[in-house]
Amino acid sequence: MQVRITVSFPYEAPVSQSLFERASVVTPGGVNSPVRAFRAVGGTPRFMVSGTGPYLTDADGREYVDLVCSWGPMILGHSHPEVIAAVQEAVARGTSFGTPGAGEVELAEEIVARIEPVEQVRLVSSGTEATMSAIRLARGFTGRPKVVKFAGCYHGHVDALLAAAGSGVATFGLPDTPGVTGAQAGDTIVLPYNDIEAVRAAFAAHPGEIACVITEASPGNMGVVPPLPGFNQGLKDVCSDNGALYISDEVMTGFRVSKAGWYGIDVVRPDLMTFGKVMGGGFPAAAFGGRADVMAHLAPAGPVYQAGTLSGNPIATAAGVAQLRLLDDAAYETVDAVSAELRSLVTDALAKEGVAHRLQVAGNMFSVFFTDRDVTNYDAAKEQDSFRFTAFFHSMLAQGVYLPPSAFESWFVSTAHDTQAVERIAAALPAAARAAAEATE
Ligand code: PLP
Repeated sequence: MQVRITVSFPYEAPVSQSLFERASVVTPGGVNSPVRAFRAVGGTPRFMVSGTGPYLTDADGREYVDLVCSWGPMILGHSHPEVIAAVQEAVARGTSFGTPGAGEVELAEEIVARIEPVEQVRLVSSGTEATMSAIRLARGFTGRPKVVKFAGCYHGHVDALLAAAGSGVATFGLPDTPGVTGAQAGDTIVLPYNDIEAVRAAFAAHPGEIACVITEASPGNMGVVPPLPGFNQGLKDVCSDNGALYISDEVMTGFRVSKAGWYGIDVVRPDLMTFGKVMGGGFPAAAFGGRADVMAHLAPAGPVYQAGTLSGNPIATAAGVAQLRLLDDAAYETVDAVSAELRSLVTDALAKEGVAHRLQVAGNMFSVFFTDRDVTNYDAAKEQDSFRFTAFFHSMLAQGVYLPPSAFESWFVSTAHDTQAVERIAAALPAAARAAAEATE
């Protein structure tokens, strides 16, 4: 067995720095997805060159225990041999045909077999496409214009779903980002998360106008903020009572927190669901699906148009099928156990240094809020002492642990996070907790 030694390496990352400088010339902000840029924590983003099991190696040759796992997909760790073999086999047969293929059928069958409310599923290439298509279908099916979403829930960069910040104007569906017009966001109603009365009031204020409520099954995009008991059931009931569709966005939680995602935990039956991340095995594959009578409205079976040149790509579906087939009960038990162990290590380290914090959990997803209050919505999430996270993050990074570079993201673990990886995290935590305790604004 390979012996790994915990070392505190020099913090400078000259090769990453030079790549970042080159990237910043040819790409806005130097990255292809904003949170990768370390803007929330400062410093040089690490350019990774390889991943094996629970470890990532950067362009300076430094190894990190990875607690991002590509923002969720890598639930078996990096370069899992069986996933890599499936990809190699698929790629040797060709990379894209633009025709139906057996891999698409297999992946769809895996999803339908695992998630009981999904009677039919359509494959797409990103979570954004999945949620965009799901709300178009909900509008086409109901003939209604409006969509309810919750502040702090992220559903990808769909124009209509970017009206999201918890400010008062957002409540009126004003766009949050330049480039989204009032018309695109005007049919979006943004409500505070975990507030079922606000949902009832919105339906009362807009009778016969709301097509759907879309929610993260258990939010992980404002940090981990699980639904309060009965909240998802309440959403489902309000939707049913008012002829609207309940859309559960499981792009993050799907196939991660259990075999059947968050649905496997709360068993509240959505009309439509969206998936991504884990189901693609690290490749661009995502999906939306649900009630067969609703899905029948999609082209070519029905009139609601939706399409994609690379949808159901043979390499992505091969990776997804291989990954899902490896995710048996034992795999989830392992991920749950690693998550529980890490959570107690993190809490102990922070408590020892007297750092006020809330460690919030949704299945095996978790995140730390630097606050002494429970966090049940986006406004509360924003009240935390983010500067303490910044200090914590950089200390962990300097000790070879790669955390999400934002206080508002879930941490992710995998079946590959073995004793050595956990010990390495444990060794880094005391100094990071001290850094958090000593941090000033
Ligand atoms: N929905 C949720 C809950 C997500 O977490 C994300 C991405 O993080 C998306 C949708 C968008 O997925 P993608 O980044 O693949 O477009």
